[in-house]
Amino acid sequence: MCGIVGYIGMREAAPILLSGLQRLEYRGYDSAGIALQNGGLPFMKQKGSVGALLAAYEESPAKMVGATLGIGHTRWATHGDPSDRNAHPHLNADEDIALIHNGIVENYSLLRKELISEGYAFLSDTDSEVLVHLVDRIWKTDPSLSLEAVVRAALRHVEGAYGLCVISPRDPDKIVVARKGSPLVIGIGEGEYFIASDAAPIVEHTKKVVYLSDGEMAVVTREGYQVKTIENVETEKVITELDFSLEKIEKGGFEHFMLKEIFEQPEVMRDVMRGRVRTEEGRVVLGGIEDYLDRLKQAKRIVICACGTSWHAGLIGEYLIEDFARIPVEVDYASEFRYRNPIIGPDDVVIVISQSGETADTLAALRAAKEKGAMVMGICNVVGSTIPRETMCGIYTHAGPEVGVASTKAFTAQVIVLYMLALALSKGRTISHDEMRLSLKELSQVPEHAAKILELDAQIQTIAESFKDARNFLYLGRGYNFPVALEGALKLKEISYIHAEGYPAAEMKHGPIALIDEDMPVIFIATRDSSYNKILSNIEEVRSRKGRVIAIASEGDTEVARLAEHVIYIPQASAQIMPLLTVIPLQLLSYHIATRRGCNVDRPRNLAKSVTVE
Ligand code: GLU
Repeated sequence: MCGIVGYIGMREAAPILLSGLQRLEYRGYDSAGIALQNGGLPFMKQKGSVGALLAAYEESPAKMVGATLGIGHTRWATHGDPSDRNAHPHLNADEDIALIHNGIVENYSLLRKELISEGYAFLSDTDSEVLVHLVDRIWKTDPSLSLEAVVRAALRHVEGAYGLCVISPRDPDKIVVARKGSPLVIGIGEGEYFIASDAAPIVEHTKKVVYLSDGEMAVVTREGYQVKTIENVETEKVITELDFSLEKIEKGGFEHFMLKEIFEQPEVMRDVMRGRVRTEEGRVVLGGIEDYLDRLKQAKRIVICACGTSWHAGLIGEYLIEDFARIPVEVDYASEFRYRNPIIGPDDVVIVISQSGETADTLAALRAAKEKGAMVMGICNVVGSTIPRETMCGIYTHAGPEVGVASTKAFTAQVIVLYMLALALSKGRTISHDEMRLSLKELSQVPEHAAKILELDAQIQTIAESFKDARNFLYLGRGYNFPVALEGALKLKEISYIHAEGYPAAEMKHGPIALIDEDMPVIFIATRDSSYNKILSNIEEVRSRKGRVIAIASEGDTEVARLAEHVIYIPQASAQIMPLLTVIPLQLLSYHIATRRGCNVDRPRNLAKSVTVE
């Protein structure tokens, strides 16, 4: 999620690292730091932007001068608030090993306890810091080892995802890097080498790069680089020639951040579940609410407050929690909740959902609920933002920074979190061990299904082409797919400025049916679940009024194909899983319609990413 840079060559390292970090700032921006090697291991790190770090460096560059080797990091916090001490690099107590890390160490809590019992003192709340102490511990047992050997040995203890760089004056003139789950690229210059989490900071220096694969490590010196697997088996690497513009690289080759974020979803989904979904054990581990789980289970009622897309995730959360955990749930717009004198007391749990963790109305709802004595819990994406600081407990979505104003990956991440929460609340109460394992198994298959759905992009583009001039759209779904109909309509409104409404399909005949004629496209989310037959009748009703039907249906369905003008087939899954799948074609459809209408999808008119005003 965050940005990593490294430099080894003949030039002054600090300015190269700092400008590289600026190129990566779109990936994460809550704090930044650099460490250099010039005999010693000078470093600086602080909360805030790379610009602020650059200013601090320019004020006192003395200790950094003369270093031609270094590493830098711009952080997107997952464990521990954005703060000076949690910023990377992390150093061992002797300050002769510096490490930066991108990703999540899943078993950090166990490792941390172990290291503390051995006398290691921790200076941060991050999961990453365990890595530097692990390296230190191994090196202490055998000081004759090389830096790469100790890093390799340390990684044997680590579960989770990492892209990391380590330097040390004890084994100088090299940078050791390793990759599992988080990308790393080596840039090849003339007598100099660059390392980065993507090509953005490299492209201005060289076009020749080597992409590390998962499970690989590299030792980079001024003379060259050697790539091996983490198990120490040599690997052959090919040099790739970059032919991208900088702008494109930042967007990972996609035209817009929104499209990149839609396509990132399979990976993000894995990140959300990482270390949390334990299918074999039949349990969910949610560190941020562990101590409050009993109290959550005893809630008389759960009230979910949110705005916009997060409110739609909240509606799915209502269905999930009621379905699995049998606890009554209400979902409220945060802006309504805060002003309508709601009946809330100590037996209630109020869950607030916000991507940014700063949404003004949601924050006010949280404060109002707290004042009335309710237990408050948050589901947010941005670590250390205001809402997580003010709630008693919470779950981070770990979707990575979302740049596109219209939320996509943050929404699916919220829904996964709510699914995991519903199961955590059910454990030992409302579902059996087998049901639990089955539900977790289904959840863990979602990234694969999502990747398959993304392959339908070309088909969705064709549909977008034929509907791009429509003036209105209706989105209809039942059950779990009703909130998805709302979300699909919102996505289209937000970025294409076409008027769109989402409705529960059965409500159509109580009003919206009056709108239907040959100019009205109607999107039906008609996957196979208990209301499938009912929704077929709704499609017939639209057809007989000449409405143009686009349907999202389960793979192999021929009934819907008979009735609809276009069918987008998605893998079959249980109803509870469906919103995570059915929303993806709708995100793509909105995107392709909007770009065909010439709209600026990443910055739609009148909207803001983080709504910090009422
Ligand atoms: N998990 C690490 C942290 O919270 C790294 C996060 C990142 O990738 O920026 O510090």
